[in-house]
Amino acid sequence: MKLALHGGQPAIDCPLPADSTIGDAEFDAVRRVFQNGSLSGFYGSWGKEFLGGVEVKQFERAWAERFCIPHVVSVNSATSGLYAAMGALGISPGDEVIVPPLTMSATVMAPLIYGGIPVFVDIEPETFCLDVAKVAAAITPRTRAIIAVNLFGHPARLHELASLARSSGIALVEDNAQGPLASESGSYAGTVGDIGVFSLNYHKHIHTGEGGMCVTRDPGLALRLQAIRNHAENIVAPAEIGDPVNMIGFNYRMTEMSAAVGIAQLDRIETEVSRRQRLAEGLSAGLAGLEGVTPPMVRTACRHVYYVWAARLDEVRLGVSREKFSQALSAEGFPHFVGYVKPLYMLPVFQKRVAIGRNGWPFTLSDRQYFKGLCPVAERMYESELLCFETCAFRIDDQLLADLIAAFRKVHANRHLL
Ligand SMILES: *Cc1c(COP(=O)(O)O)cnc(C)c1O
Repeated sequence: MKLALHGGQPAIDCPLPADSTIGDAEFDAVRRVFQNGSLSGFYGSWGKEFLGGVEVKQFERAWAERFCIPHVVSVNSATSGLYAAMGALGISPGDEVIVPPLTMSATVMAPLIYGGIPVFVDIEPETFCLDVAKVAAAITPRTRAIIAVNLFGHPARLHELASLARSSGIALVEDNAQGPLASESGSYAGTVGDIGVFSLNYHKHIHTGEGGMCVTRDPGLALRLQAIRNHAENIVAPAEIGDPVNMIGFNYRMTEMSAAVGIAQLDRIETEVSRRQRLAEGLSAGLAGLEGVTPPMVRTACRHVYYVWAARLDEVRLGVSREKFSQALSAEGFPHFVGYVKPLYMLPVFQKRVAIGRNGWPFTLSDRQYFKGLCPVAERMYESELLCFETCAFRIDDQLLADLIAAFRKVHANRHLL
């Protein structure tokens, strides 16, 4: 069959239908809020409304129960959650925070907000998550925290990172925006570190439009997160919080509408996650054994929830560049993207060493350098290996899954013509 790139019939000839997890239950939930008439239950000073309204509190309780974790603090995005986590941990100007280079940018901006210095550590080529040996080697007396990202829905080596953090006297934060219900050795991703952060952004497995959830086992951290969420400065004076560090608050509060939608979404989380997981596993099975193509790997005792199905291409074994292969795949109607994100230390904020204000703060506090070659594995994934399919974006039934596999196999079988 002639490749669509060369004028042949595309394997998939209509755009894939968009996925949506929003239905009657969410509509009813929002109606309930409007009938109650209170669209936000928060009040920005200490008192019974400091912790939010009825929906927010109920959503947090339900989340705590679902993820078997005692303390949950809802916020208006995972970005806010990561910022609050840095604040709660007391990150101070000049403190180093270890981060991976392949992630959504908010992961690595979070330390900067408090004057922390992101220290990029390379990833494992199999799971695209932090390489523990390299993390250990990067810890210095200035290191205060590690932010591990459970990228694409696969857990980082969470238990190893947690014990490394413990023995080094530093904190572990999990950016689990992409990994709800992912797990390692029976523990939910997001619940192994000192603080875990989930996203409820529209593009994630389940969503509330915008939103995020912070989880922790430490009641002191939970209180600090709640304070930062809601104008912390107002409760420092009454001494509910002993330690005044970083008790400058924001407004990271979740609305009652979002919380109500979240309660309905959480009811179906296993269904929504396992649906995408089955799709990704089907794709991996259908593309197994192709020369030069490595479907996503799952480590022993882990659950991968596939926010993204990320395969690796080997251009040498494939005999064609990823760019050419990708063009041909697009022409066949197989939606995908390559490379994920450019390693984040190449962003202008690091290259120009300017974050807050005109004088280069907080980089003025550090001689850490950000240069091409810093994380060679991440750079290789970005430049030539990663090919990604966004499993949450499309509603894929068995027929469409078969079409996707056929499209990919068609390009692969004809790649010598590219
Ligand atoms: C989506 C995402 C975020 C940010 O989530 P928001 O809720 O949109 O702020 C942070 N980290 C990762 C890894 C993400 O995928």
